[in-house]
Amino acid sequence: MPNRPWNRREALVALAAFACARPRSKEEPVNPSSEPMPSLFVSHGAPSLLLEDAPVRTFLAGMAKELPRPRAILCVSAHWTTRATRVDVSTAPETLHDFAGFPEELYRMRYPAPGSPGLARDVALRLKAAGIEAETSSRGLDHGAWAPLKLMYPAADVPVVQLALQPHLGAAHHVALGRALAGLRQEGVLVLGSGGATHNLGELGAGDHAPDWVRRFDDWLVERVERGDERDLVGYRALAPDSARCHPTEEHLFPLHVAFGAAGGDTRGRTLHRSTTWGTLAMTAFRFDGA
Ligand code: ZN
Repeated sequence: MPNRPWNRREALVALAAFACARPRSKEEPVNPSSEPMPSLFVSHGAPSLLLEDAPVRTFLAGMAKELPRPRAILCVSAHWTTRATRVDVSTAPETLHDFAGFPEELYRMRYPAPGSPGLARDVALRLKAAGIEAETSSRGLDHGAWAPLKLMYPAADVPVVQLALQPHLGAAHHVALGRALAGLRQEGVLVLGSGGATHNLGELGAGDHAPDWVRRFDDWLVERVERGDERDLVGYRALAPDSARCHPTEEHLFPLHVAFGAAGGDTRGRTLHRSTTWGTLAMTAFRFDGA
């Protein structure tokens, strides 16, 4: 800095440098390195979510506006389950239409977001450092990933990497998976768990009126998430009312455990959305901002 009054040119240079370094306003894209991303859990319901006029569709379509813009998205979907932990290293993940019996229009949909092999390898390294061996493969995006993303980021211009679940390893494993990846939030990566707050396809109904057993479980879940109760969330199978009826299989709830872990665990979540589709599918969504 000169020890004399600045001339006009020096003042302009200094001002320009300050302008580049100043915190960005709400309207500008956020510098991913300056603001940690939250982790999220969303309920994706049926693939026909994309065609229906439901409250959850409106919610998901408006969600990205509430978030810093991510550098990349690490998605953990209920629809990729593996024996060993796996991460997708695809450069251009294909859109998987992993469902049957839905309108033809859904099978024509694509979600051409790029992959990020670099992020995928980083994920594998972070997991290894936490004692979790992760394999890599090229697999593509299942509907649990691309259906909500198509509403959240319709331009498909944010790279997406998928990480698989291991339901046979239980809830604590999935909190550990998330916790091992918590540092990614500081690097502009959105950790997105996509599953279902309740998910009993054998007892689907119609409309948005949830039966008591669905409401009881969802209320319990909301209360535990909002108080950041790791012990209860990990032990939900024994502790939550109607847990086995709401989750005959567990893979649709474990993305929540990953999102919770990615916030550092013991973190109070915020409930972003509650509604019900198909009678028994609670579409609850949570946000975790971490410490
Ligand atoms: Zn699903």
